[in-house]
Amino acid sequence: MTTPIFVNRTSIIDRIESRAKQAERTAGDICLIAVSKQQADARIAAMLETGQKIYGENRVQEAQKRWGEVFASQRQGLELHLIGPLQTNKTAQACALFDVIQTLDREKLAKALVKVRDKTGNLPRLFVQVNTGEEEQKAGILPSMLDGFIKTLREVYHIEPEGLMCIPPAFTNYTGQFPGQAPGPHFALLKKLADGNGLKTLSMGMSADFEPAIDFGATHVRVGSALFGARD
Ligand SMILES: *Cc1c(COP(=O)(O)O)cnc(C)c1O
Repeated sequence: MTTPIFVNRTSIIDRIESRAKQAERTAGDICLIAVSKQQADARIAAMLETGQKIYGENRVQEAQKRWGEVFASQRQGLELHLIGPLQTNKTAQACALFDVIQTLDREKLAKALVKVRDKTGNLPRLFVQVNTGEEEQKAGILPSMLDGFIKTLREVYHIEPEGLMCIPPAFTNYTGQFPGQAPGPHFALLKKLADGNGLKTLSMGMSADFEPAIDFGATHVRVGSALFGARD
């Protein structure tokens, strides 16, 4: 059945494919993460119908309800990404629910994750979140601290992160490092930081800017409203 959600998804996939081609990249190297936070169950059900397997959530509690209760029977075969900040007291719950945690950004959290790994033998795939705009209110490690943090993860905690993630500043009223600019410089910075640390995965780009993110090497784009419609 051709639902509005199906049409939206087809259109986003087409746009990913044509942008990849234009950037001389392989579309298959770019994962579409459907950001399902704050969306109605009917829309989630319609998205599951399309065969979409990769979903992103920003709150552990809300994700637990959605994927651990409401859609628990369809959880198998899906890949769930945590894209919102993680408090250390929710680490065990997050590790049990998510396949990927994209928001590792501090040593205290690494310590908590290792504790879970030691106890259960399991650890989700991990991306390190970088605060490329150096915004005070935003999570993520500062770019200048990243190399040291990656080294600590590897040498002290025996954690091998898969890649990096960033959320560039909103473009208006911004007075930080890249005032008034498009997200391009943030994507370029994330790519440079990843290359410098031997990391191949880049989670960057949302509904408004996944196409430029592809130009700069995104391997994971996180698209919410353009797929599902506006959030509640
Ligand atoms: C909500 C959210 C998205 C999706 O945003 P849209 O603009 O709706 O595509 C992507 N990444 C993160 C980290 C988010 O919190």
